Amino acid sequence: MRDIDHVIAGGGGSAARFGEVFDPNTGQVQARVGLGTAADLDRAVAAAQAAQPAWAATNPQRRARVLFRFKELVESNLDALAHLLSSEHGKVVADAKGDIQRGLEVIEFACGIPHVLKGEYTQGAGPGIDVYSMREPIGIGAGITPFNFPAMIPLWMSGVAIACGNAFILKPSERDPSVPVRLAELFREAGLPEGILQVVHGDKEMVDAILDHPAIGAVSFVGSSDIAHYVYQRGVAAGKRVQAMGGAKNHGIVMPDADLDQVVADLSGAAFGSAGERCMALPVVVPVGDKTADALREKLLPAIAALRVGVSTDAEAHYGPVVNAQHRQRVENWIQTGVDEGAELVVDGRGFTLQGHEQGFFIGPSLFDRVTPQMRSYQEEIFGPVLQIVRAPDFETAVRLPSEHQYGNGVAIFTRNGHAAREFAARVNVGMVGINVPIPVPVAYHSFGGWKRSGFGDHNQHGMEGVRFWTRVKTVTQRWPNGGVGDGGNAFVIPTMG
Ligand code: NAD
Repeated sequence: MRDIDHVIAGGGGSAARFGEVFDPNTGQVQARVGLGTAADLDRAVAAAQAAQPAWAATNPQRRARVLFRFKELVESNLDALAHLLSSEHGKVVADAKGDIQRGLEVIEFACGIPHVLKGEYTQGAGPGIDVYSMREPIGIGAGITPFNFPAMIPLWMSGVAIACGNAFILKPSERDPSVPVRLAELFREAGLPEGILQVVHGDKEMVDAILDHPAIGAVSFVGSSDIAHYVYQRGVAAGKRVQAMGGAKNHGIVMPDADLDQVVADLSGAAFGSAGERCMALPVVVPVGDKTADALREKLLPAIAALRVGVSTDAEAHYGPVVNAQHRQRVENWIQTGVDEGAELVVDGRGFTLQGHEQGFFIGPSLFDRVTPQMRSYQEEIFGPVLQIVRAPDFETAVRLPSEHQYGNGVAIFTRNGHAAREFAARVNVGMVGINVPIPVPVAYHSFGGWKRSGFGDHNQHGMEGVRFWTRVKTVTQRWPNGGVGDGGNAFVIPTMG
């Protein structure tokens, strides 16, 4: 049995508790990960404290060069990383490469850190007075990440945090921890000083230790909403800066004038790709008008029948298994809830088995029609290969549904009408909008973040928002008096530039 250890400067841990890491294709345990304690975190923090001042004092061009080298190393190891990722997560290898690539794009953004860290300057803000501001690193930051993007999300956080001159401690998901460990090793190989990026494994015990640690100044979390809210509250109560991204239930609005063939092609990937385990998946489709709904449903049926569920190394498979047996059970329970609530189960993916892989965590695709906003199976995130049709009588209802939903991560509208699209984008109460784009994950130099219960705290991930999160502003007001004492003003009155 392979053991997965922390990456802490000066050596790993001696865990008393372990988590099981499965191969979702076979259902077998393939490794165990040591679950760390507050003592392990203390060692990582001490190493970070020792290393961070010199890293922050390294000029930003030199820091960027480490990121350039890291990018090259990840690219030359892409195949091995993607196979490792898919063997623990279950997403197909091509999708695992996308997971890594989207993370690398944030590294590419972070390579421009010398430019984006330039501060602001006002010459002559008052008589003989200049004001300038600069962005300084927080010091030590931590990231707590979910299982569903084990490369992209750790790189969202670590890339920007490190580029800004912080030391970064990553607590990845204990369900697929191997790729984060490999990424930390590649960072070291790229020349990142020891102690600047460390990986500590664990569950709630480690998360609580991070949230309570007085030397950690900023915490970035991505995961489910209840835990995001908990992390946000506890971290803020301890005086930290916290951004906490949560769950999602993204809607795709289909207007009567949409190209339905295009919509069905887009929906198949967005609803069922990665077995629906994406926070930017599109699990709810809202056709406007019954005619649109009937036509869409008719076109969806053969597309769903043609989906190929297979092992994650099957190059022909559209999607692979879900992450573990517990999650498969949870998804199947939601399907039963939908049936009990009176939704029409048009395609039932439960009980699916893959020949030769009977113990794997596979689920077939499911389709519900006539789902209504009162149903719990609509209100909650299912996070599986399940697509729900919610019929809307008109455009106003279609804007209202995602706007009133508890989650507000992503939303898409499919239409040929620019006015409707523009109106929708302006009015919808959701953080990321796609117009004829089913999965509107913003590019790395823009920023990622949802609203409502999809995001607690301030500042999005990556782009300038990420730079703002991982730095704090210092503003200097300076004057250089030339021999005279004071400026003749009243020193006991609050200074003004008037
Ligand atoms: P999760 O909430 O179970 O776990 C996320 C992290 O929290 C993990 O590192 C885990 O170890 C830790 N954790 C788990 N239980 C904890 C507890 N009781 N106290 C403290 N920490 C705890 O999420 P997951 O199942 O790994 O990931 C899927 C979820 O993440 C979905 O809800 C998905 O929508 C969401 N997600 C959101 C985004 C986004 O950007 N909004 C992106 C990806 C995933």
